Amino acid sequence: MPKPSSTSRLISYVQPYRLVLLGVFGQVLLINLFELVKPWPLKIIIDHVLGGAPPSLALFRDWSAENLLLGACVGLVLIYLILAGQTLVYNYTSIQVGQRLVNDLRRDLYHHLQKLSLTFHNRRPIGDLLYRVTADTYALQNLTMKVLFPALSAAVFLIGMAIIMFQMDSLLTLLALSVCPVLYVTVSLLNQKIGIAAMQARQKEGQVYSVVQGALASIRIIQAFTKESDEHQRFMTASQDSLTASLRLYTLQTIFSGAVNVVLALGTAFVVWTGAKHVLSGMLSIGDLIVFISYLATLYEPINKIVQSNSLVQEAKAGIERVFEILDEEREVKDGHRHLHLRDVKGDIVFDRINFEYVPGQPILRDVSLHANPGQKIALVGPSGAGKSSLLGLLPRFYNLRSGRILLDGVDISQYRLEDLRSAIGLVLQPPLVFPLTLRDNIAYGRMDACLEEIQHAARLARTHDFIVQLPNGYDTMVGEQGATLSEGERQRITIARALLRNVPILILDEPTSSVDAETERLLMGGLETLMAGRTTFIIAHRLSTVRTADLVVVLQDGRIVEQGTFKELLDVDGVFRRLYLMQWESGTTPTLA
Ligand code: ADP
Repeated sequence: MPKPSSTSRLISYVQPYRLVLLGVFGQVLLINLFELVKPWPLKIIIDHVLGGAPPSLALFRDWSAENLLLGACVGLVLIYLILAGQTLVYNYTSIQVGQRLVNDLRRDLYHHLQKLSLTFHNRRPIGDLLYRVTADTYALQNLTMKVLFPALSAAVFLIGMAIIMFQMDSLLTLLALSVCPVLYVTVSLLNQKIGIAAMQARQKEGQVYSVVQGALASIRIIQAFTKESDEHQRFMTASQDSLTASLRLYTLQTIFSGAVNVVLALGTAFVVWTGAKHVLSGMLSIGDLIVFISYLATLYEPINKIVQSNSLVQEAKAGIERVFEILDEEREVKDGHRHLHLRDVKGDIVFDRINFEYVPGQPILRDVSLHANPGQKIALVGPSGAGKSSLLGLLPRFYNLRSGRILLDGVDISQYRLEDLRSAIGLVLQPPLVFPLTLRDNIAYGRMDACLEEIQHAARLARTHDFIVQLPNGYDTMVGEQGATLSEGERQRITIARALLRNVPILILDEPTSSVDAETERLLMGGLETLMAGRTTFIIAHRLSTVRTADLVVVLQDGRIVEQGTFKELLDVDGVFRRLYLMQWESGTTPTLA
């Protein structure tokens, strides 16, 4: 399907607000009408009150000079009052539309980002994406607030002014307008450069976000390895690059404004020169000249606005293109159509000749086949980097396979709706992931509708309830960023409780390594056993007890299954598992070696 153009996409965002926009356009017309009337009370005072000439409008002919003066002064105040009220309404409505447009764009971008596969997220620095969601989306507001409405207002004002000025002195008006083509050429010359500079400045700013985000996410490691000064240096380099790019952009914009102002000054000088001569020769009244000069003072403001809007458009375009670039990213993992109801899932899982790679040409899994019967516990063992996590990440379809298929209850998982499939799988991963929410919300993360009794029940099974109730705020205790306020074992039990609460038929567990102490381990194992009972479980096993009790042990090495069978069967052959067993467990250092 061809991609929609940026313009038609923009229109589709603006479409829902067309009535409000129409209202804003109406306000623009009104405001400019009153702006055009502004110098007229002064003309009446100079020509008819002070100069004594009869007013041109028949209505005012009978008015005394004093009444005319009073009328003109009251008119002046009224014009300013109405303008103030109109501007208030205009600002409120236009900001509201602009902000709503930003919100709509953000909503779609954020939604899309959440759906994109892990392949995409592995590739893209988080800080850059953060900048696109928070800052680049403002381009749409800038486009309306700083470009569309001001340019429209300027155009209305210019046209109205040109019509009035033509009535008074056509030669002067032509002189004033002749500056437009000169301005256009000046602007076009600088425009392209500003567009490129704006894009670069945004990229560099995005990189600063990435560096900060990356460093804050791993602040523990940075401090532990005393890498603060290296990180600081990295930040300073990115910040310096961003500063240089911004300075270049601002310099270009300043040169641009300077060039525009010089052209405008030349135009003004010509107009004032000719206008003064016309007054001396009696072609214009003094009041007319005052109106003309007042218009003149504001004539270049709208032209300037229209001209400046060009560089603003370039800047906004850069932001919008960065947003659309992400919206254009196809979802690599395509959603299926088949419904999967939790209560119907038996949990029969077949990995059928799986080949997989993160980067094309660098195979991670080769020809992997295995079968898990409903409720079985499959232990995956093998050296680090063998591909165990990668294999299990394929079951919730975080990535696409290169070839082969995975069947759940006899149906290829790619046929199921992703949401259904993922809802049937519980994950307990390492390191255990907890969110900066309350403990209650952390446990209920996968099932926000759960009531407190259910949450407490899950917490009891995961042996974490006693610990939680001892805390001053109990289940309402807030967890720090990345679980900073909890110990490793506590975090693990929270994730087990979360999986228990979801009550799903399929489980993927990354068993905690032996780094936790014996007491925590005993508690954890109890929770895990409860969790696994009656569910098809794939477990990346680090413990002998788990391997021993597994229905099937699968040994992975270099992305291939090199052995599979029961614990006893594997020990009986002189292979990889036996060697692993002797190396890892025979030494007697592992607490669960019983
Ligand atoms: P295990 O779980 O057995 O330790 P993994 O599945 O984590 O092994 O890793 C298998 C291989 O895939 C390793 O070489 C690892 O570097 C690579 N790998 C893991 N995750 C990614 C990723 N997101 N992008 C690229 N390569 C990856």
